[in-house]
Amino acid sequence: MSDCIFCKIAQKEIPSNIVYEDDTTIAFRDVEPQAPTHVLVIPKKHVKSVMELSDKELAAHILTEVIPKIAKDEGIAEKGFRVVANVGEDGGQTVPHLHFHILGGRSMQWPPG
Ligand code: AMP
Repeated sequence: MSDCIFCKIAQKEIPSNIVYEDDTTIAFRDVEPQAPTHVLVIPKKHVKSVMELSDKELAAHILTEVIPKIAKDEGIAEKGFRVVANVGEDGGQTVPHLHFHILGGRSMQWPPG
C-alpha cells in the first residue's frame, strides 16, 4: 500500500533501525520504545492485522522462527518477554499494517491498560 508507513519501512523508502530481515519478514526497533527491548516484527507484504493474516506459512514463520530468534539475539529469551499484536480501534492499533511488538528487558505488568 503506497501510503502505509510500515510498507515504506519494509521497502526501505524510509529509514528504520532493522534488527532482522528475510524474504518475507522484517523487524526493526520501535521509535518510541516502551521497554529496554522493543522490536516490531512485520510481514513485508501488506496485511492489515491478525484478522487478515491468512498466510499460515507466514504466520508460522513469524511466530515459530523469527520472534524466537530475535528474542535470543536480544538476550531476553531466558528471562521472558511479551509479544503483543494490537488489533483495531479497541485493541489500540495505530498503524494498520500487522506488527508484533516484542517487549523485554523489564518485568511486565498485567492487565495491560
Ligand atoms: P500499535 O499502536 O500497536 O499500532 O503500534 C504501532 C507502533 O509503531 C508504536 O509503538 C509506534 O511507536 C511505532 N512506530 C510508528 N512509526 C514508526 C516508525 N517510523 N519506526 C518505528 N516504529 C514506529
